[in-house]
Amino acid sequence: MKKVLSLLLAVFFALHLSASDGPKYVFYFIGDGMGINQVIGTCEYNEATGYGPAVVNFSQFPVRGFITTYSSNSLVTDSAAAGTALACGVKTYNSAIGLNADEKPVSNLCEWAKAAGFGTGVATTVGINHATPASFIAHTRVRGNYEDIAVQYMTAPVDFGAGGGFIVEKKSGHNPAYFENMAQKNGITVLHGPEQFKDIASQEGRVLCLSGKEQNSLPYAIDRKEDDTTLSDFVSAGISYLSAHFADKGFFFMVEGGKIDNGGHANDAAACFQELNDFADAIDLALDFYMQHPEETLILVTADHETGGLMLGSGQYEMHPDRMAAQHMSMDALTELFRQTFIPEDEKDYITPSWEQIKGFFRTHLSLWDSVEVDDDAEASLLETYNSIFGLEGNRNSSVENLYSSNSKMVTDAVDYLNKTAGYGWSFGSHSGSPVGLYVTGCGADAFVTVKDNAQIAPTIAKLAGYKRD
Ligand SMILES: [Zn+2]
Repeated sequence: MKKVLSLLLAVFFALHLSASDGPKYVFYFIGDGMGINQVIGTCEYNEATGYGPAVVNFSQFPVRGFITTYSSNSLVTDSAAAGTALACGVKTYNSAIGLNADEKPVSNLCEWAKAAGFGTGVATTVGINHATPASFIAHTRVRGNYEDIAVQYMTAPVDFGAGGGFIVEKKSGHNPAYFENMAQKNGITVLHGPEQFKDIASQEGRVLCLSGKEQNSLPYAIDRKEDDTTLSDFVSAGISYLSAHFADKGFFFMVEGGKIDNGGHANDAAACFQELNDFADAIDLALDFYMQHPEETLILVTADHETGGLMLGSGQYEMHPDRMAAQHMSMDALTELFRQTFIPEDEKDYITPSWEQIKGFFRTHLSLWDSVEVDDDAEASLLETYNSIFGLEGNRNSSVENLYSSNSKMVTDAVDYLNKTAGYGWSFGSHSGSPVGLYVTGCGADAFVTVKDNAQIAPTIAKLAGYKRD
């Protein structure tokens, strides 16, 4: 079945490879932290669990290759330097946004597209001023200058913006509403949640779509509640808005799946893979658009870097992705539930759950000691962690930090075991220097056959689409 589907998709895409003129509509999808193994790992996970298609849509695009991701000062890039390479076509040092290695501002695809009269869009699952979207919006020496980036957004040539919200810096005392008000004062209409996105096509002037909740990033797809805004809501709103306002000229639209990276930093395969599925769902919307405009649409999918050093197979010549099926929440959400269940906030209320109760918790939420066998060594190791938390000298708050969250050591050890026994081995909680995939379809796709580095993509798009680089 997998093979037949691949073949059908390949034939369809091949039919629409070439067109005489450059693309009028460009979609540029960036999966943050989405290494090649994350893509293949997700396909295996989907096939075993049914949580997504066994063939992720973009993995079948007719032009497929890999690109190097190194920054000017390291083989291992961060999202800022990689974002700058992807947006501006320039290598820079880790942490720089929209500057070259000499700290001089360099222009980006949104600026080039706007200078040639195209509509522009930037959407992400994380903060609109986080590193990847920031690279298409701003120019600043340090990615952590969130408020500088937010201020630059106000006058950036971005017609359609979408994200969880504005990230604020603790030291300023500002709240996200401060920047939403600033946006409105700058003539940007701020919309909150999908209900308000419905009439977006008739909205005049620049728009900014936010989640509608008090959060600067969307929740993980694996933790999503029914009323949560999704990346697909943003992409659908973006397509409606941009195609209504720029029907004559066309548009450039960058879309980031920002939290595939968070799943990698946490070494949480289920969260990472379901985030990748969610990203692919958003790409489906661009594919629908492409079906309507096959001669004029270019779709690129790539990543800024790999996160976590994900290995397929952890020491054995076999995979058991079906063992991941019972995990229905992220490690972060599982930690929250674990703490609510076993670790009262007030020390005087501390209880000592039995080892059987702890096993019961992971039996319910991860199927450990149920359909997923826990071998003697693993049980001894988990028991040791239990004692280090709930024993006489135990530390209830024993946790494992990663870039975006802090999880109970009991939960991280249980999820680590689950990942490992399923065949997903993580090397560390940071980025790696591995190359990432580049998947391209549509008008002008064959121009990317020779693209082998992240800094080559933006100039190639600009040349094809007729953007004005300064
Ligand atoms: Zn990262």
